[in-house]
Amino acid sequence: MRYISTRGNEKELTAAGAIIAGIADDGGLFVPNHIPVLENNFIESLINLSYQNRAKKILAEFLTDYTEAEVSACVERAYGNQKFDIDLIAPVVNLSEDTNVLELWHGPTSAFKDMALQLLPQLMSTALKKTGEKAEIIILVATSGDTGKAALEGFKDVDQIRIMVFYPQEGVSQMQRLQMVSQKGNNVSVIAVHGNFDDAQTGVKNIFNDEEFNKNLNEAGFQLSSANSINWGRLVPQIVYYFSAYADLVKENKLKMGDKVNFVVPTGNFGNILAGYYAKQMGLPINKLICASNDNNVLYDFFKTGVYDKNRTLKLTTSPSMDILISSNLERLLFEISNRNTDIVNKLLSDLSDKGVYKISDDMEKNLASFYGEYSNEEEVKSTINNVFKNYNYLIDTHTAVAYNCYEKYKKETSDNTKTVIVSTASPFKFSEDVLKSIDCDFKDLDDFAIIDRLSSISKIDIPKPIKNLKNAEILHKDIYEKDELKLAIKKFLKV
Ligand SMILES: *Cc1c(COP(=O)(O)O)cnc(C)c1O
Repeated sequence: MRYISTRGNEKELTAAGAIIAGIADDGGLFVPNHIPVLENNFIESLINLSYQNRAKKILAEFLTDYTEAEVSACVERAYGNQKFDIDLIAPVVNLSEDTNVLELWHGPTSAFKDMALQLLPQLMSTALKKTGEKAEIIILVATSGDTGKAALEGFKDVDQIRIMVFYPQEGVSQMQRLQMVSQKGNNVSVIAVHGNFDDAQTGVKNIFNDEEFNKNLNEAGFQLSSANSINWGRLVPQIVYYFSAYADLVKENKLKMGDKVNFVVPTGNFGNILAGYYAKQMGLPINKLICASNDNNVLYDFFKTGVYDKNRTLKLTTSPSMDILISSNLERLLFEISNRNTDIVNKLLSDLSDKGVYKISDDMEKNLASFYGEYSNEEEVKSTINNVFKNYNYLIDTHTAVAYNCYEKYKKETSDNTKTVIVSTASPFKFSEDVLKSIDCDFKDLDDFAIIDRLSSISKIDIPKPIKNLKNAEILHKDIYEKDELKLAIKKFLKV
């Protein structure tokens, strides 16, 4: 299998090449040159396998330049060694006759980014060895919160790669800061940047664009790269859990092989749900992919009208990982629904950058039949957390609540009673204050740890270890830099 750019002006690469490159030189995203269609008994063959072995089979379809042993070693390092707090890795919890929840937050940072960011570093490190790349890769991440920690956990102690995370001095929660500054690993650096997230992001962008600095680093044997969500190596791990959830439902007799299911996905950058779309194209019996948005409902409008319009103000919500106006991974969907017409993709994306808006053709809209767009407001999120807890004694976080509420609306509007899987993207303890406010009528302002303790005592759920352990975590990273001085931080870390 080869990888091509959604914008059509890039040579074909192997999976290893695409994972090292991250983004194509023409600005496009790498996509497989064809989507593998699975043999009839493929899904059946997954039923009695562990999550790891399911992952190996699915990844092998896309990473054809990796040997079986290489894929296997990557998967074991990502999902083995008790890095997840449950052997099933991504368990499906049955709430009612037709409603199931796929929990994607049992990894080291208690949120869904771990599913991909545990595997990407392994795929990248293996790619460097396979291609004979000698440079050491330096991953730079500007983070407003959760991605930084998930990237640190994924890249720590990985061969031939180092990681530097820059977080804004103002703009991450105390918990998020603690998670990052206590990060262990012999190849990690965590730096506070004076200012807000924009300052940190601008500082990092300027470094990527500084040709002279990059040239000097290259001569010293280093190559800068990023770990953001458009890398193919972050997308492909996400295809696995759609198959895994289906296999589990068949195994537990909740579904018969071949029955269709819906997935409801709380969506931001469109990576998670796009992986579901690929799974469907490969032959997984999916009825609808329900794209759940919060008040930033650009995608809801897109699925209703065929118009993508980012000209609106970003609203800050209690589901911050979905507060996004440009969903980068949608570019890959445009490529597929235009029947892989790169001229159309280029035209739409230049409309987006010139005018902030584009409209797809009627033919493209017809190809969106697998999707259903829905959104929820803040009041609905709050009452959903409360209702689900009361009715099922099951606690969901704010992002999962958006999905849950969107599913309730979908059912009302369509009367579809196909079995459904709600994709749960974060532990309720990760967004504990907003979750607690939703279920605790005596809510009082407490500090972060007190909130978590109270949430645990009301819900009778143990606090996840990664969160609990923060209380006594040793602070290992104390450096603070100005946004125009980040080069100094890099030089110091690399000793150049
Ligand atoms: C990143 C994230 C999302 C959004 O996923 P996309 O792949 O960007 O659509 C949803 N929920 C949580 C908790 C996340 O961290």
